Amino acid sequence: MSGIEAMRRGACPSLPEPMPTGDGLLARLQPVAPLTLEQMDGLARLASALGNGIVEVTARGKLQLRGLSPETAGRLEAGVAALGIDLPTGFPVEISALAGLDPGELADPRPLAEAVGQGAAGLVPRLAPKASVVVDAGGVLSLAALKADIAATAQADGWRIALAGREAGFSPSARAASVILTLLQNLAEEGPAARMGDLVGRDGIAALAARVGLLPMPPAPVRRHVDPVGLHPLTDGTVALGIGLAFGQVTADRLAALVTAARGAGVRMVEPAAGRALLLVGFAAERAESLKTEAARLGFLTNPADPLRRVAACAGQPACASARIETHALARDLAPLLGAGELHVSGCIKGCAHPAPARLTIVGLDEGVGLVVEGTPRTVPARILPRHPLPMAGLREAVAALIEKGD
Ligand code: SF4
Repeated sequence: MSGIEAMRRGACPSLPEPMPTGDGLLARLQPVAPLTLEQMDGLARLASALGNGIVEVTARGKLQLRGLSPETAGRLEAGVAALGIDLPTGFPVEISALAGLDPGELADPRPLAEAVGQGAAGLVPRLAPKASVVVDAGGVLSLAALKADIAATAQADGWRIALAGREAGFSPSARAASVILTLLQNLAEEGPAARMGDLVGRDGIAALAARVGLLPMPPAPVRRHVDPVGLHPLTDGTVALGIGLAFGQVTADRLAALVTAARGAGVRMVEPAAGRALLLVGFAAERAESLKTEAARLGFLTNPADPLRRVAACAGQPACASARIETHALARDLAPLLGAGELHVSGCIKGCAHPAPARLTIVGLDEGVGLVVEGTPRTVPARILPRHPLPMAGLREAVAALIEKGD
C-alpha cells in the first residue's frame, strides 16, 4: 500500500509504510521492549542521518521520526533492525511504559498483552489500521485516557473490559485473552473499516458482553491519576524519572545529550510513555535530582505542572506545508493563560496533534486564526482574528475572555 493510500484509509504511519506530511515522510514505531541507551542514541543518529532530526513521542507513547524521504525511509527499517530494536510481529497491544516494574500494578499486563498480540496476528489484515487494544494493569501510570476499541483494566482476579470507551463487564483472568480475541474476531468479521464503536452502536453493549460471556462489573477501585512526568519508585528498588517533551518533540542532538546524561546517572533503559513523555528507568534515586536538572537544561519538561504539559501543538509553520500559522511560539505564549484544561494549537484544520476536542483550540485557517471553545480544529470557531499581522495582544485578550466565559 502506498503512503497516499495509507493516509486515505486513515492508517497509521508504520515503519514500512511511512505517511506523507508537510515536512516529508513520517515513520512511527512502537518497540516491544524498553530501549537500551545505545538503542535510543542510535535512533537519534538515524533521525539526523535519514530524517530532519526531529524525534517525537506521541500522546499514546509511540516514537516518530519526521522529515524522511522515500529513499531514506527505505533505509530506516534496516537501521532500526541493526540497532536490535524489536517491533511487534503480531497485533500491537498497548501497555504501561512501567509494565512489570510498577509497584501499584494489580497484575502483570505483559502475559495478557502477549497472548492477545500473538493470538490476533492473523486478524491484522482484516482489522482497521487504527484498531487498538489497551491492557492497563492499574499501576501509577493510568492508560485510561487512551481511546481503545477494547480496554482491559486490572482488578483483583480479573479484568474490567470496556468496548469503545463503554464498560462492558468483568472477565476472570483465565478467560481474558480468549474474551478479547473473540471480540477482535467479531470486529474482523465486519471488515477493515469497522471499529468497536460501530458494533456497540449496532448490537448494544449488553448483547456484546453476553456474547463473550462477560460477568457483571464489580465496583471500580479508586485510582489516582499520576502524570508520567516525575519520579516513580520501582519494584526492584530503583526509580524511573519521567520527563515531558514540549509538543511531543525533541531534536536528535538534545536526545543524544539526554542519553549521555542518563548514562552518567546509571540509567538502564529508556521507555517512551503515553502522554508525550520519556521514562529514564532503573537507576538510583539519589542520582535523580541532578539528572532532572540536566534534562530541564536540555529543554525537557520536568515539572508535571508546567503549562506546556497541557498543550498540544502540531509542527506548524515552517515545518508543515499545510500550516497557516506558526504553532509552537503561539502555544508557548498562550499556555500560561489557560489554567486547567487543554490548549490545542493547530496549523490547519487537520488537527494532527490532537484529533479530540480540547478546552480551547487555536487553528490556522485561510481566512485567519480561529478560536474554538470545547471543540476540534474542524468546529466552527467562536472568533476569527486576522492572520497577517496576527494581533497578539488581541489574541491574548480573546483567549482570556473565552476562558473566563467557560469557567
Ligand atoms: S495539523 Fe499541523 S501538522 Fe497536521 S497537516 Fe495541519 S499544519 Fe500540518
